[in-house]
Amino acid sequence: MNAPIRTTCAYCGVGCGILARHGEDGRLLVEGDPDHPANKGRLCGKGQTLGETLAPEGRLLHPQIGGERASWDAALSHVAEKLSAIRAEHGPDSIAFYLSGQLLTEDYYAANKLMKGFIGTANVDTNSRLCMSSAVAAHKRAFGEDVVPGLYEDFELADLVVLTGSNAAWCHPVLFQRFEAARETRGSKLVVIDPRKTATAQAADLHLPIAPGSDVALFNGLFRYLCENGAVDEAFIARATAGFEEMLPLLDAAETEITSVAQVCRIEPALVERFYEWAAETERWVTAFSQGVNQSSQGTDKGNALINCHLATGRIGRPGMGPFSITGQPNAMGGREVGGLANMLAAHMGFTPADVDRTGRFWNAPQMAEKEGLKAVDLFDAVHEGRVKAVWIMATNPAVSLPNADRVRAALEKCDLVIVSDCVAETDTLSYAHVALSAQGWGEKDGTVTNSERRISRQRKVAEAPGEAKPDWWIMTQVARRMGFADAFSYEKPADIFREHAALSGFENDGARVFDISAYAGISDDAYEEMTPFLWPAPAQGVRRERPFQGARFPHEDGRAHFIAAAASMPRHAPDALFPLVLNTGRLRDQWHTMTRTGLVPRLFAHVSEPTLFCYPADAAAQGITRKALVEVETAWGKGIFRAVFDEGLARGHIFLPIHWTDRMTAKGITGALVNPVCDPISGQPEFKHTPARMRLLEPAHAGFLITNQSFDPSPFDYWAKVPLKDGTLYYLASLADDAPFEKLDRLSVTWYARGEVMELRDKGKSALRRVLVKDGVTVSACFMGPAGSVPDPSWLAQQMGTRADGAAAASLLAALPMDPAEAGAKICSCFGVSAAAITEAVQSKGLTSVKEIGNVLQAGTNCGACRPELAALLEQARLKEAV
Ligand code: SF4
Repeated sequence: MNAPIRTTCAYCGVGCGILARHGEDGRLLVEGDPDHPANKGRLCGKGQTLGETLAPEGRLLHPQIGGERASWDAALSHVAEKLSAIRAEHGPDSIAFYLSGQLLTEDYYAANKLMKGFIGTANVDTNSRLCMSSAVAAHKRAFGEDVVPGLYEDFELADLVVLTGSNAAWCHPVLFQRFEAARETRGSKLVVIDPRKTATAQAADLHLPIAPGSDVALFNGLFRYLCENGAVDEAFIARATAGFEEMLPLLDAAETEITSVAQVCRIEPALVERFYEWAAETERWVTAFSQGVNQSSQGTDKGNALINCHLATGRIGRPGMGPFSITGQPNAMGGREVGGLANMLAAHMGFTPADVDRTGRFWNAPQMAEKEGLKAVDLFDAVHEGRVKAVWIMATNPAVSLPNADRVRAALEKCDLVIVSDCVAETDTLSYAHVALSAQGWGEKDGTVTNSERRISRQRKVAEAPGEAKPDWWIMTQVARRMGFADAFSYEKPADIFREHAALSGFENDGARVFDISAYAGISDDAYEEMTPFLWPAPAQGVRRERPFQGARFPHEDGRAHFIAAAASMPRHAPDALFPLVLNTGRLRDQWHTMTRTGLVPRLFAHVSEPTLFCYPADAAAQGITRKALVEVETAWGKGIFRAVFDEGLARGHIFLPIHWTDRMTAKGITGALVNPVCDPISGQPEFKHTPARMRLLEPAHAGFLITNQSFDPSPFDYWAKVPLKDGTLYYLASLADDAPFEKLDRLSVTWYARGEVMELRDKGKSALRRVLVKDGVTVSACFMGPAGSVPDPSWLAQQMGTRADGAAAASLLAALPMDPAEAGAKICSCFGVSAAAITEAVQSKGLTSVKEIGNVLQAGTNCGACRPELAALLEQARLKEAV
């Protein structure tokens, strides 16, 4: 076995360290790095399967112009010439870059410098705009700079952790498990503020299922309670803050009384009061917030409202306390540091004349951008309106992920020049590209990333890139040289860029900006290679503080933190008679963004395998919707088809859709197409958590599934969803009225099945069939179709592909049911493949009473731990059943 290479995970903002090595069969094996401070050896299910995502299949191997293979030289020259021509004819603002939190800091730095210093526009935005730009804006208003004050260890040192708008058990599992482990010994309390009873909320001591958008009202009420109950730190307020007087009207306002707050939040006053009491009496208190706060038309105000409470109590900048923004992406923070957002320049500088001048001198830039550029939603609007004529999209999929995604597609369709850099060959966005540039992906390139606690780590190359894929920093450097900027883009390796980035952070800084890593400005190539994770700030001179506000000094010019009086307001679009439901969107436990990577790993579909609508049972019943029915969800912006699942954790009148499915994976299930494009007026972050919607039952004439390793085009079906298997693909299929696709599938599968032993059941009217092909005693494919609701769940049958089918097992195949019922159904623990049925059976037959006992018997929950809240919920269900 070769020596492991230390790198970091490609997925969420926890930024877990990984040890990667090649096994004897050449496969990449990954395990948690016990020495990385973020995860101390832990990895969640997504991180554990990263080694399975490096297959060469489906990769974009070569550059393309107009869909035809091109040499790198031709593609780079083409891009440089086109951009130069558009800039000359229409000006710098006619060009835009749209980047990604998946890029490494060095990639981000090169893109930002090229645009803001040399092309001469700040039209550089990033998909991080969709994730945490409200937190950035709240930090800047409160502290004067985008600084996360705390560390992950604060979750372990706190006596109270408040998670607001954060399903951390699913979306930041390793951080949540660190807290859970500490909670067991420390006895700390968990409060979860979320309209939905998520897996995280199930683990809470107190869950506040507040109405969407009522967060500001809740935290303004808390501010008043803290002031009236002796919890404020007057010395801290006097010494380290400004603007407290502007908050005083809240103390007399009727809307900050507990009963009014409870009314606005639509929860019991007792719940509000208990939260307020716990916050007032707990010195070590962390408030962590994520997309539920940020993805809102009042996201920035929400962030400031909760920060105000920490400033009032002085509970910030010390161990175990403070506001804490948890970022979604692996390098959202790195992007913020270099200026990847259109309203930031570089190294945490803005567009003041002094900052523009300083950065221009440092870069020796001929044409500095002097004003903020277009934020994501506005940027694609400008493409749609023809103001932006060339857009270069890197490592992201806006045709799926932006709100009102169909309008984004229309914008790309008519744009003069669409350049897309990606590592996969097919994405919804790539289908609009005039030029496609084959980029290297995770594990193939070198650079750095920054996680949510400001820790900079190396991401290292652990495998050769396929084809001619190149790192993004190299692609941009080559284009910049061809545009005439060779002197400023003379980089030969990522270390060259990192040194320059570090030097800029310290350039004429003198303590004005907290983001300062100038201690690394002279790092040698060897030291960069060996770099161990470190926290910023890391200035060349002066104090290195792990918690930047430890000395109660803030980066505002007056050195103080600022209270921001935020008025409570509600989401822009309210439900009405036409669209009576509230659509909320978010992530699943085992998937990532638009599935370009997790979509390659069969076991990550064992938890949820189709584009799924989570709906409240009574709402579903009112529409005649049963479990697993197909449902059309529609908003004023778009519609899609999803499989219904009941979720009693939702509030009545609310529905939830995951964000992950694309045109590549399903017929019409792009959640982004349904989302309203309203944005927070300060941060520009779209309101993904609140869109008025309606739903209706679809009643297919035929529905079923096909499992095959042959190529198959599902497009004639009104609904289809694709699930990768170890050997082959599972297609869920349905046709609404026309049965032609059914006939076609019947004929096609007869042809395939001529090559083996066929088991078949067919009803007299031939409107239903079950066909399984066994070849040399091994099950190789299956096709089940029939009237809606008549076809069994395919998940068990899908697992039988490639296994021996003899004796009693053969009868099971046509029934699509295992002989052991515990093997059936969705997998709760994807690490050990344990189903809900198996867990329930073990709880009942063995009298298990704790998650730990389930782990002892079935191993479930003993690895990454992300399923532990769901195990607890199954235990509770079994207990309630017994009580009845
Ligand atoms: Fe990766 Fe999971 Fe760690 Fe996030 S929590 S960085 S997805 S291993």
